[in-house]
Amino acid sequence: ATTTIPKTQKVILINDTGSYDVLKYQDHPVPSITDNELLVKNKYSGINFIESYFRKGIYPSEKPLILGRESSGTVVAKGNSVKDFDIGDKVAYLSGSAFAQYTKVDAAGKVVKLPKDANDETLKLYAAGLLQSLTALTFIDEAYNVKKGDFILNYAAAGGVGLILDQLLKERGAHTIAVVSTEEKLELAKKHGAEYGIISSKEDIVTRVKEITNNQGVDAAFDSIGKDTFETTISALKRKGTFVSYGNASGPVSPFPLTKLTGNIKILRPSLFSYIATSEEWKHYSREFVSLVSSGKLKINIGHVFPLSEYPKATQLLEERKTTGKLVLEIPQ
Ligand code: NDP
Repeated sequence: ATTTIPKTQKVILINDTGSYDVLKYQDHPVPSITDNELLVKNKYSGINFIESYFRKGIYPSEKPLILGRESSGTVVAKGNSVKDFDIGDKVAYLSGSAFAQYTKVDAAGKVVKLPKDANDETLKLYAAGLLQSLTALTFIDEAYNVKKGDFILNYAAAGGVGLILDQLLKERGAHTIAVVSTEEKLELAKKHGAEYGIISSKEDIVTRVKEITNNQGVDAAFDSIGKDTFETTISALKRKGTFVSYGNASGPVSPFPLTKLTGNIKILRPSLFSYIATSEEWKHYSREFVSLVSSGKLKINIGHVFPLSEYPKATQLLEERKTTGKLVLEIPQ
């Protein structure tokens, strides 16, 4: 069944760290697979902010590095030991080197089977929703277990992860305070369930949080901004509140003395992948995701779809804060 698979393919890779010009759309060998792997012909790939950390060198990597870590598509080859998947299966997965026409994926890894008749819209939805929904789902259970009535500060609330958090927090009965840079973004966050809004370009975050929470501060903050908002988030928390620091959109948080954690606040720096490390954890959360999306309870807001070759332009818009919702790449077939 491998006869129709080409030897080379188009990918987005980097040989160096740097700005957008280090991103290359070029030919690269199609990977060969081992006994426990699948070869997936990708149809859609989800863009995540994390790719920019690898490109900038905030996170280390070996080069060349093919970017991308989530896609959906069709299984076109499988290793001899693979029992749970067949050629022709439609799948969505989390795995490296996803900004490519073909990606090898561990069959026992982070891969979900989609209905055989899944159409392009379904494939697009799963490539768009998987990583960011699992991030939101694991974080509101395990990083800080959100309870009814909690006040929660949600940064980048109109972004990919942010719009999903808005919905899940509302479902939990929490009061979400969305932090966004523009009126348009606030409108979108509110449509997805945020109750209050702070426009960071115009308003002081701590002052507004104090007003909204009757001077108490928030029970927890989901802060993906990093460096620029660290002090602000500390000041916005309630006594015994939880600081979930989970991203570096403005740069990594600077080292700080533990005595910063006044008022018995807790801080953690979670990564999605450490919440879905075992197959039980993966099954639990991926099933929850599939059920929420297929029932329509969770909406994945796709801001824009770009062809694979236009990833550099797409990430530039993302990094310049010009996008809302999720950005998706369509892979040439
Ligand atoms: P988003 O769609 O949320 O885009 C990033 C948003 O961050 C921007 O739209 C912007 O919103 C806001 N932002 C604020 N300050 C800056 C700045 N200085 N530069 C750029 N953006 C800024 O991206 P994603 O949904 O892909 O990711 C959201 C965050 O979650 C990222 O930080 C990402 O790294 C993190 N993440 C972490 C995971 C983990 O496991 N720890 C897993 C998944 C995501 P605005 O204009 O409204 O301020």
